[in-house]
Amino acid sequence: MKRTVALVVAAGTGQRFGSDVPKQFLPLGGVPILRRAVEAFVRHPRIDAVRVVIGPGQEDACARALSGLDLAAPVTGGATRQASVRLGLEALVADPPDRVLVHDGGRPLVSAAVIDRVLDALDGDAAAIAALPVTDTLKRGDGDTIAATVDRAGLWAAQTPQGFPFPALLDAHRRFADHPATDDASLFEVAGLPVALVPGDPDNIKVTMPDDLARAERILGPAEVRTGLGYDVHRFGPGDHVMLCGVRVPHDRGVVAHSDGDVGLHALTDAILGAIGAGDIGQHFPPSDPRWRGASSDRFLRHAVDLLGERGGRVVNADVTIVCERPKVGPHRTAMVARMAEILGVTPDRVSVKATTSETMGFTGRGEGLAAQAVATVALR
Ligand code: MG
Repeated sequence: MKRTVALVVAAGTGQRFGSDVPKQFLPLGGVPILRRAVEAFVRHPRIDAVRVVIGPGQEDACARALSGLDLAAPVTGGATRQASVRLGLEALVADPPDRVLVHDGGRPLVSAAVIDRVLDALDGDAAAIAALPVTDTLKRGDGDTIAATVDRAGLWAAQTPQGFPFPALLDAHRRFADHPATDDASLFEVAGLPVALVPGDPDNIKVTMPDDLARAERILGPAEVRTGLGYDVHRFGPGDHVMLCGVRVPHDRGVVAHSDGDVGLHALTDAILGAIGAGDIGQHFPPSDPRWRGASSDRFLRHAVDLLGERGGRVVNADVTIVCERPKVGPHRTAMVARMAEILGVTPDRVSVKATTSETMGFTGRGEGLAAQAVATVALR
């Protein structure tokens, strides 16, 4: 099987956009533009790995935008798009793929079908780009006056992804580094190599100007918002710590559980499963299954987030309440929020951890165990 890497180029500074934040980090439907572009390839079954190229100093913004995704460290790009792609390709040399798809980080709405069409062409050993035939009548302007009508026959508007055999694209970028090009196919053309045109998608727009963001929001359409509820309890037992919301909290008791017994993550997992009608945690991870003995509960929550993603959904916010007399939650709250945000792939402002006692009444009040409630709101498109 040939190995295919997607190189997502997002090194722009957003000058044309007129924003302090480079446009690829701005939210589109609540999700950073770059994250949408990257996830399209991460989720694609025929893409083996995704590498992102960013501008110098954009490391923190990139880490926030892509939190929770299992990606190699981003490559730092150069002064032009062309230089950034070349540096991204050079970063792949140590473990070279057979084929590479180059995609603009500013095209967040690329569909799996467009990616498939480029890959199908590559399967037939043709370099290929997604493109659309030009349908508007084209005018060459002289200032704001028409100088001529340009024959549009045979004209296409180039999009990304653009797919190539890796060694050939690397070679073209190295040889023609001084030949200015605004896409990668141009360098193949200079090298005299054929490139196929496969149908792109009118919705696969490049978010370049502020108006494009509004248009992308319209293409994305309204989300269906759903809510799920989760509740979990574990009994205290021997031990020196409890896992709560993904954080190890020292305590004079442990919990009796098949997994690590994290009531916070279990309740939140059930809340997400509930929002998409996908059963409950016990169905997906039966306590009778020895595989989950002592399991770290972050994998349960990740599984729920993956199922949500497969349905085109994402977490809008999550709110967890822990009920116990002890241990004290307050000192660990910030770490819990950060950990859950990381697993959910959202910014920490979308996650809340609260704690309450039950005024020494009931099983939590008597210190027999601890409980958690969670509500998750998700958006499906
Ligand atoms: Mg449980």
